[in-house]
Amino acid sequence: MSGNENRDALAGELLAVARALKEQRLNVGSSGNVSARCDDGFLITPSGRLPERCSVADMVWMTMGGVGAGGLAPSSEWRIHRDIYAGVSGVGAVVHAHSLFATALACQRVDIPSFHYMIARFGGNSVRCTAYATFGTEALSKNVLAALAGRNACLLANHGMVVCGRDLEHALAQAIELETLCEQYWYACQPGPLVLLSEEEMAEVLERFRYYGDGAREFKT
Ligand code: 13P
Ligand code: ZN
Repeated sequence: MSGNENRDALAGELLAVARALKEQRLNVGSSGNVSARCDDGFLITPSGRLPERCSVADMVWMTMGGVGAGGLAPSSEWRIHRDIYAGVSGVGAVVHAHSLFATALACQRVDIPSFHYMIARFGGNSVRCTAYATFGTEALSKNVLAALAGRNACLLANHGMVVCGRDLEHALAQAIELETLCEQYWYACQPGPLVLLSEEEMAEVLERFRYYGDGAREFKT
């Protein structure tokens, strides 16, 4: 495949993920955005557009300097996406969503603690919530990078979630996983205080997750 064919194929995947986020009800209207690392820049969804009305050609390619190519404006959150690619190694795709339970918790401005072992899927024993900043600003991007330290996802205060993945498929799966955990946490909090997993218990889970899903290795019991 030529470089351009590669980019077109990735743009097709990007649009499919943006549409899937709506079908899964993680986003509504034109809320949220998605990107994928591509060549020496990244592809990102256009600003303010409904994914179901977009074509593959509407996806915007940007340089790491923040210059967009093509007719449409890139997502207003392009800085978050660009700064993650510049600052976090191993990230191939980023999803931002205003999903119901992640956003409800983000309005409480709480970190999600180790109430369930699957929290380890996000790199540590919590998923942090950022400090508040206006959407589309450099300040919000800085807050996101701070909340992502050692993690691959965070909540955005009074706004939603950001999730990083190896590639688009992984980022979508992680976004669904995080929203599910947020829903579980929301319900688990209703009857009263929770029993959290200890640091030692989470350390054991984090060690196991280094190999989980890697068919080449067997779990130790
Ligand atoms: P865009 O349509 O510009 O991507 O904005 C949506 C959003 O979620 C802003 O935070
Ligand atoms: Zn948003």
